[in-house]
Amino acid sequence: MRAVKSWRTPKPHRPLFDAKVGPYPATRFFDQLSFIGTPNVGCFVLETDEGLILLDCMEPLEEHREMIVKGFEDLGLDLHDLKAILITHGHGDHYGRADWFREQYGCKIYMSRVDYEFAQHDTRNRTGVLKWEIYDFLEDGDVFRLGNTEIHAFSTPGHTPGGLSYIFPVTDEGVPHMVAMWGGTGVPYKMSAKVDYLRSTLYFAEMTEKFGCDAEIATHPFVDMGTQRLDIVRDICDGVPNPFVLGKAGYKQYEKMFTDLCLDAMAKQSAVVDPLLPPPPPPPTRPKRPVEEK
Ligand SMILES: [Zn+2]
Repeated sequence: MRAVKSWRTPKPHRPLFDAKVGPYPATRFFDQLSFIGTPNVGCFVLETDEGLILLDCMEPLEEHREMIVKGFEDLGLDLHDLKAILITHGHGDHYGRADWFREQYGCKIYMSRVDYEFAQHDTRNRTGVLKWEIYDFLEDGDVFRLGNTEIHAFSTPGHTPGGLSYIFPVTDEGVPHMVAMWGGTGVPYKMSAKVDYLRSTLYFAEMTEKFGCDAEIATHPFVDMGTQRLDIVRDICDGVPNPFVLGKAGYKQYEKMFTDLCLDAMAKQSAVVDPLLPPPPPPPTRPKRPVEEK
């Protein structure tokens, strides 16, 4: 038999990011977990016995805010039951108009203090800076509880200085699974941030192993073929496994993709000569040997 060589090519940042894409139908894919958004960016609603939690909040655009409102409606969920919005990191396409939901429905907003401060000064953020107050913060190792549901928060800096990743339980037709949500996907530009990112992937791998994660979700569906898998869920029939359940080994393989992408980016960057750095000193010259006469 021929030796196995991987033919898979991870494509977590396909050009879809800047493409104009319409809404994807709001879809439930676990007993308590649903997706609202577009194939580009979305958010997740988690149902507990004491209310709803929104994980991320899309872009601060009117159309995205309306998409979330309609998504709740389509899923048969009441926004008055929304108790909290947990934000993975301080980029606009994740915190969106969480402030509007707080004003309208009185829910709380959580993110890390570090990324809240970062979001107020992040001039590279294409959606502008975060101008509203946040009063509730989550940090590494915190457990957010609502009813009988616990969401574990882990500090995973790199993509941003204070990104958070989450782990929480769900069920699929009553069968329990543990979901991992890696907080910031894109590998950052600066080498020092890449080092943080790499450390974070390894730390989160330890935590997901400890909690026995066997499923994952990503705010950007192009990272993990999220909407293609939702297509399967929408037509699923008995005997077909839920495509969001990867199994523990499958989840580890998925997670390793981020570590590998970071290592590749680091290797490429260290091979590039920075034009702003002074040129390296010339090699030491050897004393010329006298030419031997024949
Ligand atoms: Zn981001």
